[in-house]
Amino acid sequence: MKLIPIGGYGEIGRNSLLIDTGNEAVIVDLGLNMEKYIELTEDESIEYVSKKVLLERDAVPRIDNLPESIIERVKAIIPSHAHLDHVGAIPFLASRFKNATIYGTPFTIGLLNSILEDEGLALPNGIYSVNPGKEFSVGKEISVELISVTHSTPDSSMVAVHTPSGSLLYANDYKLDNAPLLGRKTQISRIKKLSPLKVLVSESLYATTPGKTPSERIARELLRDVILGLKGNERAIVSTTFSSHIARIKSIVELARQTGRRIAVLGRSMHRYLSVANDLGIYELPGDIAIYRYKREINRFLSRLKNPEEYLLVVTGNQGEPKSVLSRMTDGLFKFNKNDMVLFSCKVIPSEPNITNRAILEEKLRSMGVRIFTDLHVSGHSYREDLRELMLYTNPEILIPSHADRIRQLAYKELAHETLPESRVEILENFRVLNV
Ligand SMILES: [Zn+2]
Repeated sequence: MKLIPIGGYGEIGRNSLLIDTGNEAVIVDLGLNMEKYIELTEDESIEYVSKKVLLERDAVPRIDNLPESIIERVKAIIPSHAHLDHVGAIPFLASRFKNATIYGTPFTIGLLNSILEDEGLALPNGIYSVNPGKEFSVGKEISVELISVTHSTPDSSMVAVHTPSGSLLYANDYKLDNAPLLGRKTQISRIKKLSPLKVLVSESLYATTPGKTPSERIARELLRDVILGLKGNERAIVSTTFSSHIARIKSIVELARQTGRRIAVLGRSMHRYLSVANDLGIYELPGDIAIYRYKREINRFLSRLKNPEEYLLVVTGNQGEPKSVLSRMTDGLFKFNKNDMVLFSCKVIPSEPNITNRAILEEKLRSMGVRIFTDLHVSGHSYREDLRELMLYTNPEILIPSHADRIRQLAYKELAHETLPESRVEILENFRVLNV
């Protein structure tokens, strides 16, 4: 088989890999480069941008580089999970693959359908939600299985692709949380059955970080310490996190309820992810919690809010995105008073626009006397020992580090040599075809 990396190799974002047997092909992930996408929309939630502009600005995988014969062979597009750097280009690009059906876990497909519906986009492709743990055919030669894995959004999966020349496991993104707060544990027994594996494609973002990624329970404890410690405090509390991180939002909501505060959730992408989770029964948001989605609803709610000290607000804008709710609140939409509090349950994603945006936001908050609590967070990605564990479970002939720049790809390579000296590591670049 041939592996064609379409996006996300030697860069972070717009993940996409094409696997081609010569007769049939599948694409795993078709994601956005979020920074470039947000430059076009100035909004963190998905909205329509033309395919031509997205391709010109490198915000999506460069599918225009693919020969027509390969495009025709693509039988399936399989997003591994509901993060937009993995699923977000499907609404704009999938129609180019006329013979492809889209498969994903219920939450991933729920999110995709919600984007298509909200933006009035229609795809000619069939779209199916598939439960993890069952192998299904996507053509005559290729079968696929989604395997449950823990990450920072519900229903994340590894994608096993079985071909006549062997199996490939696409593990991008994951961590091995043995006691997740929401959803299934990683299906380790299914993963071990793939050993010895032909190809392992693994995230490598934290290949330089020693140890094991802490469980999501640790993030809940960090939040518990802060939120319960503020019980009885008569100041406004505003919290922010990733909209897709349902387990984290659930922790914030449950802790806020213990303080007796009322809760309101503000922002378009928060509304979208929470609605999908609620509809699927993944997390049923308590009925007394208000969610405000559109700008005018949010503006009205905040302008009429006379007693903010009775609330804990959960808002979008954890990276300081200029058009997000938190940035707009800071710029005058909300009257912050001295000693009000802002809780960041996230880390700054280390790229130039995020670092700058967050620094500007925090400076504005500080100048108003707001108390800032940062890094109430643990990662959804694998540190070195989780990465090593997956190597040992699967014993692959070939390892491919993905979702990282060159430095981290090389750190993963070194880890692989240390762990499995007989195996081969391939560092891919976008559109450098690998025959395996
Ligand atoms: Zn992810």
